[in-house]
Amino acid sequence: MAMTLRQLTTCSSPATHVLERRSQRRDRTYDYVLHTCVRHRWLADNWKGSRRVVEEGELRCGVLFEYRGYAEVLRSHSWEWVCRLTLNDLEDDHQGDVVGWLRAAFAELSAAGRSAHDGVRVALGHAVLAATVEQDPKVAEAAVLNALAVAETAEAAARGA
Ligand SMILES: [Zn+2]
Repeated sequence: MAMTLRQLTTCSSPATHVLERRSQRRDRTYDYVLHTCVRHRWLADNWKGSRRVVEEGELRCGVLFEYRGYAEVLRSHSWEWVCRLTLNDLEDDHQGDVVGWLRAAFAELSAAGRSAHDGVRVALGHAVLAATVEQDPKVAEAAVLNALAVAETAEAAARGA
C-alpha cells in the first residue's frame, strides 16, 4: 500500500506522542501513524491504535503517515474536516459518490466566499479536477488524496490549529 502524507496541524512543536494503528489485514502493516505534540494529543482522541511517548525528533506535530486504502482515507477526510466545514459527508449525503461529494464541498466553499478558506477551496478544486479528468485511475486516486491532504492542512491553518 502506498503512503500518503497528511499534516493535521500547522503547529510548529516537535512531535512527542505517537499513535499507531496496525492493519487488520494478515500482513499487520500499519493503517496509519499519527504524530502530535503534547498539546495536540486530543487530535487522536477518536482514533484507534496504541499510543506511546517518543523523544523529540525531526517530525513536527500533526504529521500523519497514511497507509489505508483510497475509500478509507476519503472517509477519514470526510469525518475529520470536510463534513464539519461544508456539511457534506461522503456516505450520509453522497452515498459514496466521490466526485459528487468533492463537487458539493467545493461549491459550498465557493458560495460561502470566506477568504479565510481560499486555500482550502483551491486545493478542493484540484481534487475535483483530479477526480474528473480522464487519466490512469491509480494516478487519479493519488492526486485526489494529495489535493485533499493540502486542503486539510489549509483548513487547520484557517482555524489556527
Ligand atoms: Zn501541536
